[in-house]
Amino acid sequence: MGPKKKSFSEWYDYVLKEGEFIDVRYGVKGMVVYRPRGMAIVSRLYQMFESDLKERGHQQVLFPLMIGLPSFKKESDHIKGFEEEVFMVSRAGGKDLDEPMIIRPTSETAFYPMFELWISSYRDLPYRTFQSVAVYRYETKATRPLFRGREFLWIETHNLFASEADAIKHVRDDIEMMSSRLSELGIPYLVVKREPYDRFPGADQSYAYDAILPTGEVLQVATTHYLGQNFTKPFEVEYLAENGDKQYAFSTTLGIGISRILGALVSCHGDDNGAYIPPQLSDRLGVVVPILSGNGSSEVMQYVKKVYSMLPGGQFLLDDSELTPGEKYYMSELKGYPLRIEIGIKEARDSTATIFRRDTRKRKVVSLDSLPREIDLTVEEMKANLKTEAEGLIHDAASREEIIELSGQNRIIRANFCGKKPCADGIKDATGGYEVRGELFNEEQPHGACAWCGEKAVRKVILAKAY
Ligand SMILES: [Zn+2]
Repeated sequence: MGPKKKSFSEWYDYVLKEGEFIDVRYGVKGMVVYRPRGMAIVSRLYQMFESDLKERGHQQVLFPLMIGLPSFKKESDHIKGFEEEVFMVSRAGGKDLDEPMIIRPTSETAFYPMFELWISSYRDLPYRTFQSVAVYRYETKATRPLFRGREFLWIETHNLFASEADAIKHVRDDIEMMSSRLSELGIPYLVVKREPYDRFPGADQSYAYDAILPTGEVLQVATTHYLGQNFTKPFEVEYLAENGDKQYAFSTTLGIGISRILGALVSCHGDDNGAYIPPQLSDRLGVVVPILSGNGSSEVMQYVKKVYSMLPGGQFLLDDSELTPGEKYYMSELKGYPLRIEIGIKEARDSTATIFRRDTRKRKVVSLDSLPREIDLTVEEMKANLKTEAEGLIHDAASREEIIELSGQNRIIRANFCGKKPCADGIKDATGGYEVRGELFNEEQPHGACAWCGEKAVRKVILAKAY
């Protein structure tokens, strides 16, 4: 494994494989297998976001993988936005189908025909749903495990409201929920309002949650969209208002990229020794490593059993394999377990244990009596240690020269922008791929000129290289 900073791609692939998170050798391009260590984190991420959504009044549903072609074609921007990327099933039972079926790239066109049947009165609203599934998009750019694939795991919410104000309030609540969780997970991020030409097909407003990777690139890990009546009109999702009028509902959607969040976690927290999985996401808090040498071995093993019995049930693995202590340390760090309890002859004779924490890589010797409490304290410290501040990672640029200079240093850039696509394209060409990601949520208004063309600026935007 190369050092993380120098050769990030090589480091990333190595940690995912040797840390046993995923396996890329399945044999279908852009699709990976989640191994137990990776799947445990995926399950915890799902639990975390699903419980947030349920608390906010969403109900879980499950829709079929396939969408009928007539449904898929109903919203014209939507079909245009996705037609190059969809997988289509056109043959079954040994013959061509009269009408092909779409494998969901996202599920608006699956949900809305059912919403039409389910919603009839203002009393049915708000109506908030979600499903936890995989979606499929035929990516033609180079794929990268967890970042860009043809199958990825996510949660998608689909929600109906009686008024525009209710729907916009819901989008704001999405932003609050996502921001709080990403901070808690220690992923540096930006909430960016997408430029009009860069919105989700069929959306009136799109907000993206961009994780900031150690390379200075950004990775969109979730998006929330205000869809207005763009879907409820073609799908005729109407309700009877309190005053007796028929009205189209307003709708929103949130997509939470579970695969990408796992990729961002590994990227952001890992170091030259491997991964670091935060305690709230790791299937086990740690590994107990006996340090056996010569004739003290049986004394140590007896003591290790005593220590192990004092640890919270199911939270620690006992590594009694044939590997040397050094090899066991290496593996526990590569896989990113938050803690390691090291027990040798010194600990056995002094009635102590050595706690190693993965985030700071520091050791602490504690008495056996205080071990359970010390573990709890350390875990709390590790969680607190995760909260990050993205603001320090953003650099302001006022001119073409500054944009080009900062892009050469792989910085995230904030600059005044005129809102025009030719400027965005010019920046992309001159900087080797920097994109206008959109304006920061809750950002101040710009004063002065577009940093690129000198015309009047209408927004302050974030420029970054995207994965
Ligand atoms: Zn401009």
